Amino acid sequence: MTSFSSDSSAGLLTSVQDQHQALASGQTSAVELCQAALARIAAHDDLGAFLHVDAEAALTAARASDARRASGAARGVLDGIPLAHKDIFVTRGMPSTAGSKMLDGYLSPFDASVVERLAQAGAVSVGKLNCDEFAMGGSNEHSAFRPAINPWSAPGQPLIPGGSSGGSAVAVAARLLAATTGTDTGGSIRQPAALCGITGIKPTYGRCPRWGMVAFASSLDQAGPMAQTAWDCAALLQAMSGFDERDATSAPLPVPDWLAELAQPVHALAPRGTAQQPLGGLRIGLPKEFFGDGVQPEVLAATQAALAELQRLGAELVDIALPRTPLAIPVYYIIAPAEASSNLSRFDGVRYGHRADSPRDLAELYTRSRTEGFGEEVKRRIMMGTYVLSHGYYDAYYLQAQKLRRMIVDDFQAAFAQCDLIAGPVSPTVARALHTGEAVDSDPLQDYLADIFTLPASLAGLPGLSLPAGLGAQSGLPVGLQLMANYWQEGALLHAAHLLQQHTGWHRLAPAGFEGSAA
Ligand code: GLN
Repeated sequence: MTSFSSDSSAGLLTSVQDQHQALASGQTSAVELCQAALARIAAHDDLGAFLHVDAEAALTAARASDARRASGAARGVLDGIPLAHKDIFVTRGMPSTAGSKMLDGYLSPFDASVVERLAQAGAVSVGKLNCDEFAMGGSNEHSAFRPAINPWSAPGQPLIPGGSSGGSAVAVAARLLAATTGTDTGGSIRQPAALCGITGIKPTYGRCPRWGMVAFASSLDQAGPMAQTAWDCAALLQAMSGFDERDATSAPLPVPDWLAELAQPVHALAPRGTAQQPLGGLRIGLPKEFFGDGVQPEVLAATQAALAELQRLGAELVDIALPRTPLAIPVYYIIAPAEASSNLSRFDGVRYGHRADSPRDLAELYTRSRTEGFGEEVKRRIMMGTYVLSHGYYDAYYLQAQKLRRMIVDDFQAAFAQCDLIAGPVSPTVARALHTGEAVDSDPLQDYLADIFTLPASLAGLPGLSLPAGLGAQSGLPVGLQLMANYWQEGALLHAAHLLQQHTGWHRLAPAGFEGSAA
């Protein structure tokens, strides 16, 4: 590649923004960027970030981007930028597996909305990223194909990248790509972003169309971008957002120009903002339930340090309460499996998915196809979901959970009367050791409990962003800061994160051996 790609000190060419500038100034081409990404992806295949790479299709798209630029018809900041999609998005021409044997080799006749929109913006898709099966999990250990490995692991001691968008986070953290797509049902963008030291945003439910996303829990699933910086996330989210008539829950709202908002020196919600204190008067609520005993001390310390930076930028920290936070776990683990059990009923070996060989009758066709096609975690969710929806238990579990979900929404609305944003940790711990074999399914509850800080915003449908807050003092592993906002306020999250990133260097920290561009 070109000479400047080795300048890791400036983080050159590892962000969308840098790549775009290099393309716009003619320092590099989309084909060169694409080739460099493909070389890095091949060199680091052992990280397990990818389930499928299509070099030929990517280079064809890159050549088309270069041709557009040469004729003065470049389409904007994403034109020519290599990226990849979580394998939960269906893609024409590349297999779409959702991380499951059930869909092994499945070729979709169409592209998911967000895939289509990013391609339309000129981005070059190089492949499909590893994830937990049907996005169920927080470790990527539940991928039916292979685990993804956190690039912050010490040699010989693999750590989880988080999940379910584990491959999406690994690809960015290891500088294989500047940006990827992910999905977040209960934290699957924010938690892997935190554990891998990158930035990710789950927008308001309804902001990005779900058309072409393999459904897990339809009332919770949202697409979003993952990248090194808030600016890069804004660039992708801009292209991914907006009404799509093919998704009945897609919001018919205009999409703000987030990149223009980020160019504003002072935060729109900061009534006393100045050049020195751009967050002047912005109230950031700290829910006491997010700062309790269950949080690792090093996570707490890094979170506090990031909050102190926000304060230096003028933000006012206010104590708030989200009293139903502990209930988010039981509520989510009733509602999400209930919806999953219904969504996954279509995988019966007839309409979709793996079909068992030579069944004796129809009943055996269904049973064996599903038994063979689904992994342990997915089966666990289907059983939980079927149970809470069954006659006699529906009122006791599902209906109760729906009522409590409403109360979690109310908690947030009460909190937003006192503050503009809410902040706290993303995950109570840094990345844990990766389990393999039988150990993967030894203690599912432990992973469910670790979702406590991401589930509330998911259940309420609110936007949430995770950004790097430095490394834990004990482990040296990344810690994420979570920012949440009221409905449709993604701009506020992106702006606050962008300002923080302009004043700190946490988002530029790279795991050893992955600094700068490897090509
Ligand atoms: N970890 C959560 C779960 O296993 C969240 C998954 C997600 O957001 N897709 O359900």
